[in-house]
Amino acid sequence: MAEINLRIPGPTPCREEVLEAVARPMMNYRGPEMAELMEELTVNLKRFLDTSRDVLLVTASGTGGLEATIANTISSGDRVLGVNAGVFGRRFCDVAEAFGASLRTIEVDEGLALDPETLKSTLHQEKNCRAVLLTHNETSTAVAHPIEDLCRVVREESDALVFVDAVSSLGAMPLPIDELDIDVVISGSQKAWGVPPGMAMLVLSEKAWKATELATSPRFYFDLRRYRDAQARGTFPFTPALPVIYGLSVALGFMLRETPEGIFTRHARIAARAREGVRSLGLELFADPEHASSTVTAMKVPEGIDESALVALLRTRYHTVYARGQEGLRGKILRLGHLGWVQEPEIDAALRALRSALADLGHRI
Ligand SMILES: *Cc1c(COP(=O)(O)O)cnc(C)c1O
Repeated sequence: MAEINLRIPGPTPCREEVLEAVARPMMNYRGPEMAELMEELTVNLKRFLDTSRDVLLVTASGTGGLEATIANTISSGDRVLGVNAGVFGRRFCDVAEAFGASLRTIEVDEGLALDPETLKSTLHQEKNCRAVLLTHNETSTAVAHPIEDLCRVVREESDALVFVDAVSSLGAMPLPIDELDIDVVISGSQKAWGVPPGMAMLVLSEKAWKATELATSPRFYFDLRRYRDAQARGTFPFTPALPVIYGLSVALGFMLRETPEGIFTRHARIAARAREGVRSLGLELFADPEHASSTVTAMKVPEGIDESALVALLRTRYHTVYARGQEGLRGKILRLGHLGWVQEPEIDAALRALRSALADLGHRI
């Protein structure tokens, strides 16, 4: 089987060294080996994220991280403000509703970013808002919201908790967690970290920890206090996804050597190259260029091209996997992932494949 150029925004390709680590023998997760590995991991995660707060590791996908956030801080009936700018903004809202939150949603056209002024005026009307749910990088539309301004607006205008879904951005795009005083940040191993799926990372503020004591939502597996207390003892409350942890420790070593700044610059550079490449094929970008993501690029499927035939051809003839549009955007856009362990040649190859597949389908560039 020819090697596949997996260009979806997660799960992302893993380095050979990470895949080798994933295949290591299991260990006693309550033994001293785990405590040692946990110590190294937590120190390195804090160093990479430039935070003094503890980084919790929970065996779950990113959505499990969103659910843990809500279950630990929100009680039924709490007023919660969310943003519908795409699939992932909506998902965060849906999780809050599942736990009984009284939801107010800001509607944003897909492809656009949330304007901080809109958030500000909405918060003026929502004096009793318990939490604001933000998405850093809306993976479904390839939009990076102006997260720093949005977080500052929440802090200036309200006492609400501020939660940031950074699942497809943390580790690839800058997010000054402590400086912005974000209450909960959520990420997932299979995105920018270049590790297989299975671990969610959560960073909580003191205010968020207080909220975990006040919230009355039911929780057991996702009770974050269990993870905090277990991590302090160098272990986990329940059996963790050990292979993912092995992989993460190796990936983090590479990431620290490259440095966060080096990684952010590489992602911005590759994203600019991807957008330029898409334009040079005569295709239209989907996201507002002022808020284009550094981790994923979305393009409109050209008029007259059958999108399902295009993705099938890309996969079978050119061994390249693009992500399709989700929900209402199915058939209308294609997405090119460029996060994690990625360099220019993979993006150039994906764009060449797209050029060829379009030509095969009779599209004139
Ligand atoms: C991938 C992703 C998630 C979580 O997805 P899972 O499949 O549960 O890991 C959440 N938010 C964003 C922005 C994402 O890109």
